[in-house]
Amino acid sequence: MKTVVALGGEGIGVEVVDATCALLAAAGFPLRVLTPPHGEAAQRAHGTPVPDETKRLCGQADGILFGAAGGPASVAVITYLRWQQDAYANVRPIKYYEGAASPLADPRGIDFVMVRENMEGLYPAREGDLAELARAMPELRDRIGRRVGEYGEGRFAVKVVSRAGTERIARFACALARRRRARGRPGRITCVTKSNVLTRSDGFFQEVVEGVVRQHPDLAYEHSHVDDAARRLVRFPQAVDVVLCMNLYGDILSDLAAEAAGGLGIAPSGCFGDRWAYFESIHGSAPDIAGQGIANPTATILSAAMMLEHMGLAAEAERLEAAVARVYRERRHLPRDQGGTAGTKDFCAAVLKAL
Ligand code: ATP
Repeated sequence: MKTVVALGGEGIGVEVVDATCALLAAAGFPLRVLTPPHGEAAQRAHGTPVPDETKRLCGQADGILFGAAGGPASVAVITYLRWQQDAYANVRPIKYYEGAASPLADPRGIDFVMVRENMEGLYPAREGDLAELARAMPELRDRIGRRVGEYGEGRFAVKVVSRAGTERIARFACALARRRRARGRPGRITCVTKSNVLTRSDGFFQEVVEGVVRQHPDLAYEHSHVDDAARRLVRFPQAVDVVLCMNLYGDILSDLAAEAAGGLGIAPSGCFGDRWAYFESIHGSAPDIAGQGIANPTATILSAAMMLEHMGLAAEAERLEAAVARVYRERRHLPRDQGGTAGTKDFCAAVLKAL
């Protein structure tokens, strides 16, 4: 028996996590699911959005499933799960399930993974006033020779690219590409930067990634500037395998890629550190549809499948994903964002039946 901590977060996050946990229980998987206080309710009852007891349970759990963040109390939960745990690799599988509502003419065969560096780049934000920067670095010039002091009033943000941070995300992406290659995928890393403009920061990321990939001669490699990558992910989404992105680029491109494969309602993710992982849909709390019982739980169910695989329950993970795929293929019980009429619980009931 394995232990899972389920944290709904806010808005539809609570609905899709509850429905997913009920599905996992009804499926008879060997799991004990705990739902400790967190977010706004914990703030009211315990004076903090992530009580120590909740942290203790997360620390001991075999798997952690999160719903969605919205306001500050649920963002504090993400801050704990992601940044305070140094969960540096954000993994977002992008896969087309036959029957899903992709806007592309032919989405068949889309099956790749976005790996987003989670701890550096422009996030978490390091910002300030231009006047402070001008005082600290009076000689700093842009590409056309202007000093910071010449801009007048304004703000700046610092983009950080460290060798250690880049090497570890590159190693992570290579390990993932190798595992996919063993399952018949191409085993190719597409590194996404804007190194033609940001030659020192993005250029460094690219150079360090290339050094790491060279140590994996069984893997193929290509580099793509972020604007070109956006175009290619829409035009040739079947041609990529593991797309390794700097933080901000990965944030944007993974929403674009998710939409191409069928929408936010079906896009799962996992965040991995060296000794830590948690899983969540990539969508937010969707205040526009919260409380109506109509949110698509697929993204959370597929995140749970990733969690099961990570916990050593690969057979259960495969069965769950296959059941989801079957419901999409049959197109009889799809949620509204996929062109159907099924509510959150109806969809889960259909997945249970397919199991
Ligand atoms: P937040 O500020 O919490 O990120 P948001 O509304 O800005 O919330 P999302 O929650 O990602 O962003 O929602 C974007 C759009 O996608 C909304 O119209 C929402 O209803 C829709 N959406 C997101 N997730 C789902 C889902 N699981 N099922 C159906 N529609 C969804």
